[in-house]
Amino acid sequence: MRDIVEKLYTSGDLSDEELSALITSDDSDAAELLKKYADETRRKYYGTKVFLRGLIEISSYCKNDCLYCGIRRSSSDADRYRLSREDILSCCKNGYSLGFRTFVMQGGEDPFFTDDVMVPLIAEIKKKYPDCAVTLSLGERSYESYRRMKDAGADRYLLRHEAASEELYSKLHPEHMSLSRRKECLFALRELGYQVGAGFMVGAPFQTTSHLIEDLRFLQELRPQMIGIGPFIPHHSTPFAEEKGGTLELTLRLLGILRLLFPMVLLPATTALGTIAPNGRELGLMTGCNVVMPNLSPVKVRKKYDLYDNKICTGEEAAECRGCLQRRIESAGYTVANERGDCVDNA
Ligand code: SAH
Repeated sequence: MRDIVEKLYTSGDLSDEELSALITSDDSDAAELLKKYADETRRKYYGTKVFLRGLIEISSYCKNDCLYCGIRRSSSDADRYRLSREDILSCCKNGYSLGFRTFVMQGGEDPFFTDDVMVPLIAEIKKKYPDCAVTLSLGERSYESYRRMKDAGADRYLLRHEAASEELYSKLHPEHMSLSRRKECLFALRELGYQVGAGFMVGAPFQTTSHLIEDLRFLQELRPQMIGIGPFIPHHSTPFAEEKGGTLELTLRLLGILRLLFPMVLLPATTALGTIAPNGRELGLMTGCNVVMPNLSPVKVRKKYDLYDNKICTGEEAAECRGCLQRRIESAGYTVANERGDCVDNA
């Protein structure tokens, strides 16, 4: 197995068979070597820097019905909220003073946040904080909507493809959603000049190794600037309540592989990874990750952005989250970078 890791490191790719062997291997020597090369690679392009993204969860209303997600439309016991413009601006103000230079506005697909609401909001944030990047993560919208928000100043868009296999995608989503529509959105975002983030859940129900390989191949085709992956974690009021969650080992394995397949990509150590293991994010950083996304949402709404059970960081103020993450980053041997943190590959 070590030879496969060596090959991935030196050539930057593997055959499907080799990827499959590496994903499923329980060889701990190979896992160590993968971690070492992933860390060397991130250091080559990013040094010890870890970029912070201040996450503002703007709404838990969602018209969509993804089977895995705790804020899906059918979650009748979900506690819904939506932040006001003032709430969002005050999160940015707080975040700016804490050193954040990227704000991520993420939410369910809430029909309230039309382009006429988003466009002036984005413009105002960019005007107040011209040295900051604005990232959106608001799900599927029309080309025209993506265009208007880009023109207003949005820099980046996160839209996980969730599953690059038609068959798996359709098992995770309601009938009216399609992988082709999702891909269309991602390619539109790229064409419009957004820095794009795609990604998938690890250990989602029905997911096999060959589905994961399809995810990696799709990412090679899309070449996003960021790749967000985290373990699937069941939520008690979804149809997947009784399913098993993704594991730490498999998530770390895939993070290491992603770092070597995409040496310059931005790779977050996600909140979901920190939820399944107390030191999950630190281990992620040591396996190639170079981004963390501390929660900037007002504490009063945090528990309501309830994507999966036991989500961490729902009780603290933003400043506490920032401090806690800084300690974690430094304990893992890295440094916090108070900068926008663009991808070094702008090709
Ligand atoms: N509405 C936006 C934001 C979705 S939430 C959008 O559609 O892009 C961000 C991500 O959380 C999703 O893309 C999904 O991959 C992840 N997520 C949702 N439910 C999850 C669960 N139960 N376990 C782990 N991750 C989950």
